[in-house]
Amino acid sequence: MGKRIVIALGGNALGNNYQEQRVAVRNTAKAIVDLAAEGHEVIVAHGNGPQVGMIQKAMTALHKQEPDKYTLCPLSICCAMSQGYIGHDLQIAIRDELAQRGLVKEVSTLLTHVVVDQADQAFQNPTKPIGTYVSREEADRLTAERGFTYAEDAGRGLRRVVPSPQPVSIVELPAIRDLVQAGQIVIACGGGGIPVVRTEEGNLEGVEAIIDKDFASCRLAQELEADFLVILTAVEKVAIHFGTPQEKWLDSMTPDEARTYIAEGHFAPGSMLPKVEAALQFAESGQGRSALITLLEKAKDGIQGKTGTRIGS
Ligand code: ADP
Ligand code: MG
Repeated sequence: MGKRIVIALGGNALGNNYQEQRVAVRNTAKAIVDLAAEGHEVIVAHGNGPQVGMIQKAMTALHKQEPDKYTLCPLSICCAMSQGYIGHDLQIAIRDELAQRGLVKEVSTLLTHVVVDQADQAFQNPTKPIGTYVSREEADRLTAERGFTYAEDAGRGLRRVVPSPQPVSIVELPAIRDLVQAGQIVIACGGGGIPVVRTEEGNLEGVEAIIDKDFASCRLAQELEADFLVILTAVEKVAIHFGTPQEKWLDSMTPDEARTYIAEGHFAPGSMLPKVEAALQFAESGQGRSALITLLEKAKDGIQGKTGTRIGS
């Protein structure tokens, strides 16, 4: 029986620049089409950390060159651009892969806005690293000039951090649902979705934030009443005591175990923690729902219960 599966693609599915992306999406398309070929409905969400950083850097350089002509580009606009840039490559790669296997299926990328709450405390406490690593001098200069916040990223250097509010609702959900029901593979909520708030007048307005793609994917999976949330990343399984001699790779976690491991601090904030939290949230959101965290190349085996870490039933 075909299941409804929301996939969350991590950084390794898309690469760090255009050359890498063109190669990476071919591999990613295989993993996605493997699932569609088995009769599953597939909805694809993805991250955009390196891409949104690259776009923002380019837009900032343009502003520096011609400040009168080009104002600084808001992050929400950079996110919108990244959805198109990634969607374009991924959509074509999926199309080509379907055609090669003789499968008849449409693929669409849907520009997706996700509403966040202006009162979300994330706006007071930016945590999400974006873009390239910078020197202390450059960080200090940009903090003074632009009011950006910088933080040490997992011991690898300084990166800009931006607010990462929780996704509240997905604006284009009815359109996504229609496309899925029409049998299409849908790419949506790219980069966690373009973050917007609802103004007092009731309009939508872009904000300076990045929504975590793992939480946006969880929201999407819940709203679509999916059977599976599959988070594809750079590790085949989730570990406790990760990177220590006691390291233990897990085949499954019950929701209670997941909560205990989270409380014990086994998962790195900003990398594995949001995945396990999103997986737990989805698994508990309805009967028969479960989440899987595994390697991109292992998506099919993971769905069949052969590998990965499963959270929930
Ligand atoms: P993505 O781009 O897919 O979101 P991240 O780098 O954000 O990937 O998160 C995945 C990484 O989390 C893994 O490659 C691994 O290095 C790291 N990680 C941190 N804690 C754990 C853990 N407990 N088990 C497995 N991986 C972990
Ligand atoms: Mg990540």
